[in-house]
Amino acid sequence: MKVYLWQTTSDAWSFMPDTLQEYPRKAEYIQRAAVAGLLVNILLTALKGIAGVHAGSRALVADAVHSFSDLTTDIVVIVGARFWCRPPDETHPMGHKGIETVVSLFIGLMLVVTGIGIAVDSLRSFGSHSSSIRPDLFAVVTAAISLVSKEILFRWTLKKAGKTGSGALAANAWHHRSDGLSSIPVLVAVVAPLISRSLVFLDSIGGAVVSIFIVNAGWKVLQPVIGEVTNSAPPVEVVNKMMSAAEGVTGVISIHRFRARMQGGGIYVDLHLQVSGDNTVYQGYSIGKEVEETIMRSDSSVRDVIARIEPFSPCGDADKCKDS
Ligand SMILES: [Zn+2]
Ligand SMILES: [Zn+2]
Repeated sequence: MKVYLWQTTSDAWSFMPDTLQEYPRKAEYIQRAAVAGLLVNILLTALKGIAGVHAGSRALVADAVHSFSDLTTDIVVIVGARFWCRPPDETHPMGHKGIETVVSLFIGLMLVVTGIGIAVDSLRSFGSHSSSIRPDLFAVVTAAISLVSKEILFRWTLKKAGKTGSGALAANAWHHRSDGLSSIPVLVAVVAPLISRSLVFLDSIGGAVVSIFIVNAGWKVLQPVIGEVTNSAPPVEVVNKMMSAAEGVTGVISIHRFRARMQGGGIYVDLHLQVSGDNTVYQGYSIGKEVEETIMRSDSSVRDVIARIEPFSPCGDADKCKDS
């Protein structure tokens, strides 16, 4: 899973389930960074929400919504990971990773819809010159706190990422940087009315800019989910790695009909492999088992492999050349 999701999701959550078992130390760092992020996001959501409503600032309220969405994601990382880590059972023979997909879908859609709503509201207020923002020092201080705290969190998390070599942590760090950046137009928006009444339109622009950050965050969550729901293939390099691993097993003459699909954060593979027709059933079985285990080992995201054994036929797929 890490190969597929690291680059596309902004948070550690897609990486958590595997790491929890495999690298307890690394998981501990990621967990700690997620908790630190959660605490800061709770504080920022409350502060910006109150200050934003008090000052009548669209930009600050939008930024509060963004922090709230980050907070939701943090909770999913910390709490949710425990649920989809559980081993397969009777009602969920493929494991519980599908829950992660459903939660991601929900959060992603919520972000995109909210972001678009804020964008529409901001543009409308810009068009009708109906800004509700008032000069408010509390709002200025809040926007500044948001900017500074996210920058500190960015540097702290990036240092931890360097120490552990965790791509998930690095992605988390860069998300904090992007959060900090999205507070810059907010700071401009709340400082503007202190300078001149004629600058209040900047609040509508600030709201629109922040909405882009929110939609972008939602899209990053949705992208891998859409790939999974539509059973799309894993990246080409992962497929190639699995195929050459299978071809390298002793006794395998060739492979065909290799199919790999993403589902619930894992990869499921089925393939046909040709072995010499002189093998005993037991030998054929052993080769098939070895191929399945080799593919499982080739990538930590592989959840299941089904290999069908065929006697070697020079024309390719044995199903198609029975009579030759
Ligand atoms: Zn964010
Ligand atoms: Zn075949």
